Amino acid sequence: MEVEFLGGAREVGRSAVLVDDALLLDYGLLTADPPQYPVRDPEPDAVVVSHGHLDHVGAVPALLKGDRRPAIHWTPPTADLARTLARDTLKLHGNSPLCPFSAEHVARLGEVEHRHGYGEPFVVSAGGTDYEVTLFNAGHIPGSAHVLIDDSVGRSPTGDRTQSDNGDTRLLYTGDFHTDDQRLVAGTTARPDADAVICEATYADVTHEDRRAVEDRWAERVKTTIWEGGTVVAPAFAIGRTQELMLVAEANGLTPYVDGMGVEVTRLVRQYPEFLRDPEALRRAKGAARFVTGRDGQRERIARDNELIVTTSGMLAGGPVHSYLPEIRGSPTNAVTLTGYQVEGTPGRELQDHGRLAINGTVRPVSARVDSYDFSAHADRGGLESFLSDYEDARVLVNHGDRCEAFAGDLRADGYAASAPAIGDRVEL
Ligand SMILES: [Zn+2]
Repeated sequence: MEVEFLGGAREVGRSAVLVDDALLLDYGLLTADPPQYPVRDPEPDAVVVSHGHLDHVGAVPALLKGDRRPAIHWTPPTADLARTLARDTLKLHGNSPLCPFSAEHVARLGEVEHRHGYGEPFVVSAGGTDYEVTLFNAGHIPGSAHVLIDDSVGRSPTGDRTQSDNGDTRLLYTGDFHTDDQRLVAGTTARPDADAVICEATYADVTHEDRRAVEDRWAERVKTTIWEGGTVVAPAFAIGRTQELMLVAEANGLTPYVDGMGVEVTRLVRQYPEFLRDPEALRRAKGAARFVTGRDGQRERIARDNELIVTTSGMLAGGPVHSYLPEIRGSPTNAVTLTGYQVEGTPGRELQDHGRLAINGTVRPVSARVDSYDFSAHADRGGLESFLSDYEDARVLVNHGDRCEAFAGDLRADGYAASAPAIGDRVEL
């Protein structure tokens, strides 16, 4: 088996790994204007998608251009999230000639998709080889999957492993994963046998603060601010983070307003209770929340009204958060609680580092209190190490991180056969 890294190697964004020139794992977009795709415009026979985040699924409709019709395999939540994200991309960039796809390509998803649950092996034919593929819960967001690809399946009808030249490799592609439970999804526990592992490394340098302590600190800040007469704006990614904050809010007796794409995503994931850790808790959280329509100055009113507002976008790059922040920025009684990693160059990072609100070309001072909370959906250093401890004899290829090479070096020092391929690298397994 040979793998080629088309994106998401030594970087975060536009994930794409091509197996044997025919089977594609993920096809993501890097958020920028215009958005960036993986390299080399591949023409796979089949695609398996790990989860419904933009950097893993965002460019998939572009694979359906012309008469190309690769089969697409994913979980049901990923299938729906892919469409939600595609519609959003069209809304933002649809008029640009650089937009990677059109509404027509999105509509074609229905012609080629196959939906699979966790732990249900299926056969994918690509480039003349039959691969047995199995998805396992990755504990990142609803529907997120580790992808196990076994290329020996087509050559051994009894199911015994063969040593033919053609294939005897089991590759585990982790996608994004978390080893700890979140309120929305349970952490990953599956450790299928594999000869090679492509492992994400987003938080390879980080040790997360205990999750319950983060929740308590956040809830305390929200309660104190509201009690003192202020409003709290909690910018949050639509997929995963918004629902997680709703669950934390409900568990702490808080009744947030929820705004932005997270509203639609909440409805969407509730249709798949088997992919949630506690569907009943999410039902209660939805009951406690108030969804914002944004009509008739509603946002400005809410902002003045001593409330908790959970809204997109998580890094302040757009979305309804732009309506709330100008209203609350001037008073130290108000608070902004950043709930995720803020990428360099985003308005969220500017606020975090310099206490300035830089949106729509204007920079304004912020007197409101700004705090950061690590509600990560990724394994930290300890989580990555504990996951990989089940793969001591496997080849480990590190991807999806800012310091992949350093992490691979540390793994080598610990005795692993580890490396961090660059974009464009081909690796024989
Ligand atoms: Zn992700």
